[in-house]
Amino acid sequence: KAGLKKRTAPFTEPGSLTRIVAVASGKGGVGKSSLTVNLACAMAADGLRVGIIDADVHGFSVPGLMGITQAPTRVDELILPPVAHGVKVISIGMFVDGNQPVVWRGPMLHRALEQFLTDVHFGDLDVLLLDLPPGTGDIAISVSQLLPGSGLLVVTTPQSAAAEVAERAGAVAKQTGQEVLGVVENMSWMDLPDGGRMEPFGSGGGELLAARLSKTLGVDVGLLGRIPLDPRLREGGDSGRPVVLAAPESAVSLEIRRIARTL
Ligand code: ADP
Repeated sequence: KAGLKKRTAPFTEPGSLTRIVAVASGKGGVGKSSLTVNLACAMAADGLRVGIIDADVHGFSVPGLMGITQAPTRVDELILPPVAHGVKVISIGMFVDGNQPVVWRGPMLHRALEQFLTDVHFGDLDVLLLDLPPGTGDIAISVSQLLPGSGLLVVTTPQSAAAEVAERAGAVAKQTGQEVLGVVENMSWMDLPDGGRMEPFGSGGGELLAARLSKTLGVDVGLLGRIPLDPRLREGGDSGRPVVLAAPESAVSLEIRRIARTL
């Protein structure tokens, strides 16, 4: 992006110019991981240096969504993250056996995240995205402690019940002092072949969440965008080529690319 200055300090330090965006949700299945990888690919396509830390330890899915099968390489004490679609990616999933469940508890997760931040050689980054686990767990607190400059992006569906659980994930910022960058509503509607539009999850969740977080946090939290349902988004995840790259001119991709430029 024009005018972006080079980083002057590692992103764990206060002087860092790396934009750190932690993507949060109240519950699973709302599209948090899909949004994370698509935002990252959109930013990389815009010429930014982008990294992702998949911190969704119990449901890590970023390597699959990015089409990464290779393991990180080690050089002395450093871990070199695999690169896909121009994005550097590290995930707990790269350090466990196949589909084994991750049974680590809080302190171990904190140490794993700490190690990702210190031992993984990301180099200079313009943006670091973190895919947080759903809810308000230990990792969200660890992120705020290890990366106090990180901002939260909260994802919800239009369903009011979903927006209510997402509010708790966003309200964590009140305790951690993190900035809430905004709300993204996903699965907002579906365009039908006959030209009509369907709203399978209802409407208004994104606006409701933004209004409630604004009230709780006492600052203006905006609804940054509304992303439609599109089977191509799911297919992009299944094939490891995110929809913003596979179908860049689709409505879903145009909206994600627009949101990426506001962050
Ligand atoms: P989360 O990270 O919140 O658990 P995922 O990103 O894994 O959610 O998405 C859950 C499922 O919904 C995935 O199968 C994904 O492909 C699908 N999905 C998410 N957003 C959309 C969308 N806008 N259109 C179509 N499918 C979507």
